[in-house]
Amino acid sequence: MINDRLVMIPGPTPIARSIQEQMGREVQAFGDPRFVSDYKSLISDLKELFFCDGIAFPLAGTGTLAMEMAISNSAKRGDNVLIVSHGFFGDRFIEICERKGLNYDVLSSEWGDIVPLDKISEALSQKKYAAITVSHVDTSTGVRAPIEEIGELLKKHPGVLYIVDGVAATAGEYTDMAAANMDVLFTGSQKAFGCSPGMFILWANNRALERRKSLGTIPEYFVDYEKWLPIMEDPTKYFATPAVNQIWALQESVRIMKEEGMKARFERHKLHAAALQEAFIALGFSILAKKEYRAVTLSNLVYPDGLDDASFRNAMMEEGVVIAGGLKEYAGKMCRIGHMGNAGAPEFVVMLGALERALNKCGAAVPYGTGVGAYLSLLS
Ligand SMILES: *Cc1c(COP(=O)(O)O)cnc(C)c1O
Repeated sequence: MINDRLVMIPGPTPIARSIQEQMGREVQAFGDPRFVSDYKSLISDLKELFFCDGIAFPLAGTGTLAMEMAISNSAKRGDNVLIVSHGFFGDRFIEICERKGLNYDVLSSEWGDIVPLDKISEALSQKKYAAITVSHVDTSTGVRAPIEEIGELLKKHPGVLYIVDGVAATAGEYTDMAAANMDVLFTGSQKAFGCSPGMFILWANNRALERRKSLGTIPEYFVDYEKWLPIMEDPTKYFATPAVNQIWALQESVRIMKEEGMKARFERHKLHAAALQEAFIALGFSILAKKEYRAVTLSNLVYPDGLDDASFRNAMMEEGVVIAGGLKEYAGKMCRIGHMGNAGAPEFVVMLGALERALNKCGAAVPYGTGVGAYLSLLS
């Protein structure tokens, strides 16, 4: 029995019952020693799990606010920023930089492909950049960037802060900030952490915190590291009210991660993604991202000829499963399916069954069991 439509968009995905229960708890005062201790231990776990030598800021807001926070604390008006874009979310940094009066250069890939490393290396050697931005996984294309290799390149450019948008990746794709030479990383609660929307987490290492100090007063108030740092170090202090229940929900999602282990969690995502992607292909879709750059957290499926986007996604809805549409030039030509967080075989089998029924309803005859069979046979 499914109580409501199964949400299989690239965030949120279905939320574990134990996480939901945290959101339904009786609220506590944010100064209550019990909550203070919960918040403290969440911050410390977040630093440890993702290898951050600085601080983690789990705050109210969405991934987009984290993008703004990352830029605001890393560069000042007139600084140069290098934007590496693999799609819609990579491009979002363009407008953010534009509005902040930063000078920026953009390296964009074709959708489904990546910007080659030598292009990034060349750009870095031509100008003095304050920061570089890269999306670990761009949700519009399902492409995973080679973030470790980019981190390696950046060792030759120690003045450039490495900002990684991990919104559709972190806690699904394996992330070690120290090993990848990352300075700033952020994500939203509704993506691979498997919580509901409403929180973001931004990690800033010591280099990033030093950069912030060197900027003096910045125009932004709510997203200023300096405002939040004293609270992250001692949550009995107040700057702005923490989202108590959402913080508990994040804490429970982190407890699940610790129990599973981060490497095992990544391997689980990888196994399911590979099996799902074979199933999608067996059903007649093609996958936008080139095989070597496919994310483990979501898939972007280009429709077979003749499949109408609106009728297909409506048919999916009637089957009780919600999936997302394509963005920009892929609107109407593609759908996007999230398979991150704590969702697993029980949800994926239902989703694949719904795909089979919806395809048949929409005139693309596929034998029943095609997708479910391909998926299950690759799982074990
Ligand atoms: C979802 C997403 C965002 C935006 O996050 P919101 O929580 O919707 O503001 C940014 N970057 C990437 C890669 C995303 O997937």
